[in-house]
Amino acid sequence: MDNSAHLLTDKQLIDVLCMGHQPMAVHVSEDAVIQAANDAMINVWGKDRSVIGKSLEDALPELKGQPFIDMFKQVWNEGVTFSGTDTPANLIVDGELQTFYFDFEYRPIKDASGKTYAILHSATDVTERYHSRFREQRLIEELTATNEELTASNEEVRASNEELAAINEELQAITEELRLSEEFLQNINNDLKASETRFRQLIKQAPVGICLINADDLMVQEVNDAYLQLVGRPRELFENHTIWEIVPEAAQTYAPVMNGVIETGIAFNAREHRVTLTREGTDEDVFINFVYDPIYGHDEKVTAILVIAIEVTDMVIARKKIEEAEQRSRLAVDAAGIGIFDIDLETGAAVVAGKFNEIFDLETVPNQDSIETLIHPDDRQIRATAHTEALRTGHLFYEARLSPENNGAHWIRAQGKVLYNDNNKAERILGTVLDITAYKELQQQKDDFISIASHELKTPITSLKASLQLMDRIKDKPEQNAMIPKLIMQSRKSVERVSVLVEDLLNVSRLQQSDIRLNKSNFILSQLVNAVANPISITAKHRIIITGELELQIFADEHRIDQVITNFLNNAVKYAPSSETIEVDITTDSDFVTLSVTDHGPGIPLEKQAHLFDRYYRVDQSGHQGSGLGLGLYICEEIIGRHGGSIGVISQEGEGSTFWFRLPL
Ligand code: ADP
Repeated sequence: MDNSAHLLTDKQLIDVLCMGHQPMAVHVSEDAVIQAANDAMINVWGKDRSVIGKSLEDALPELKGQPFIDMFKQVWNEGVTFSGTDTPANLIVDGELQTFYFDFEYRPIKDASGKTYAILHSATDVTERYHSRFREQRLIEELTATNEELTASNEEVRASNEELAAINEELQAITEELRLSEEFLQNINNDLKASETRFRQLIKQAPVGICLINADDLMVQEVNDAYLQLVGRPRELFENHTIWEIVPEAAQTYAPVMNGVIETGIAFNAREHRVTLTREGTDEDVFINFVYDPIYGHDEKVTAILVIAIEVTDMVIARKKIEEAEQRSRLAVDAAGIGIFDIDLETGAAVVAGKFNEIFDLETVPNQDSIETLIHPDDRQIRATAHTEALRTGHLFYEARLSPENNGAHWIRAQGKVLYNDNNKAERILGTVLDITAYKELQQQKDDFISIASHELKTPITSLKASLQLMDRIKDKPEQNAMIPKLIMQSRKSVERVSVLVEDLLNVSRLQQSDIRLNKSNFILSQLVNAVANPISITAKHRIIITGELELQIFADEHRIDQVITNFLNNAVKYAPSSETIEVDITTDSDFVTLSVTDHGPGIPLEKQAHLFDRYYRVDQSGHQGSGLGLGLYICEEIIGRHGGSIGVISQEGEGSTFWFRLPL
């Protein structure tokens, strides 16, 4: 079948193709000269048909700088196809440079030899699609972002929800706690109210004075009856008054103290303060124990002062009395040199006081057993017997010597009383010890004195008796009468001796009864010495030399001073028999006269000198020297003492002694 009649010319064919809605164009040559382009393509370009026959660059000069012209060159020269989707191109359409998006293809159309003779250019304007896809994309992106945000928010919301749930739970717990706390507080409040009531009750009934004072204005908030009584003021006075308006007499001393407590917050304690209070109009001296106690507010500041006070006047007075009594008895014990002991009979523990340790020469407190060892071994039995006896009679008494380690030569006297408990069991022995050494010595001396005195008296009396018997026998025998004067002389001597001894004894007893009255007169002292010395010089072989103020006249009891000088001279003769001379010296200085008698006999050991003037004291205790009664110097000291003078001795063993007295002129 011949279909040629129906075949279209090239022109018709192009026209037909140009009628298509798909934009198409055919380009030739390297410059992409537009051979043909359909209206759709012309529209795309935004041009008119005048572009046909023009190179692409000429037809669409805006493409300069864009990749398309070079692409065409490459298609033409290299025979490759370029295509693209959503490719942007800037075209001047309607006089305005706009960006369009295309799906395009530049396809080389080749001849049989493979050479490109035309380029088929198809393009679809996808600007609308591009934009819508772009918007869609943006939308999707936005949606995604929103979604993400939403997810995040969701997450947050979930988390917040969880937190809220937790918070809710906590809130519930807190609410419960609050409820409980409220209950608790309510309870505390109730308790507080109760305790406050109790406190007020307590304050009211307290046996001690209590007063609560505001720190800022010193007004009294609370006061109890005991306090009212203590300060001796009525309750009405306490209303609307400061404490110092109420007790002005205490203000001067105690206002600064209270201010100090308010400032420092440190409590003030007073013990036994002596205060003069005007109670019901009368001034009374009282002793008070009190405390100013600071009470703190919320801000750690002192808001009030609690005064607690108690009167201790009776107690203080009683204690002072006891102290005074104790002091007195201590003084008495000390003065009397008494040691006190208190022995617990069950434990043997001892409490000692006073001169106890001194008496026993102890440094530590002894006990029942150790006290025993303080006693001389020979006298321990005495003590033991006394203690056994004490348990029977309730009274302890013994005298004993101390052991050689403890004040050996001393004597003590222990006296005590047994104290019994409610069951009549002996519990303690309370008693005293006294050092009776001096008393014992005196007693010893007295005993010695009696035996010596008897002996001393016996000798002349025996001799007197013998003389009298002899005279009686020879009185009728004239041939023996010649002996009578001698016997009379002997008898007289014996009587003399007895009368001297008796005189001494009388003097002592008079002295003891303070019965010596001085009978003072003026006399020349040396003359008295002479009168005393003469008879001695005659009978003794000593030479008595009197020196010094031989003219001195003194005012004293001549007879008594005679006694003293006689004693000094007699002693010198008696105790210094080998001394050839005895010197008597009279000197004066200022208003005193001193008379001394010096012998060159054996002298007196230093340790004995102090005792020479004691009663009954004799250096040689054996008493075999035919000496006196140990009374002479004692009497001398008394006589000189009563004249307001002093007496003494200076002596060195082997050298002799000087006895002296000194009288005011
Ligand atoms: P008596 O009556 O025993 O002589 P005194 O009191 O006169 O007593 O003397 C006391 C003691 O002093 C004497 O016993 C004696 O030992 C001592 N005495 C006194 N005078 C002297 C003296 N001149 N030389 C040595 N001893 C003396």
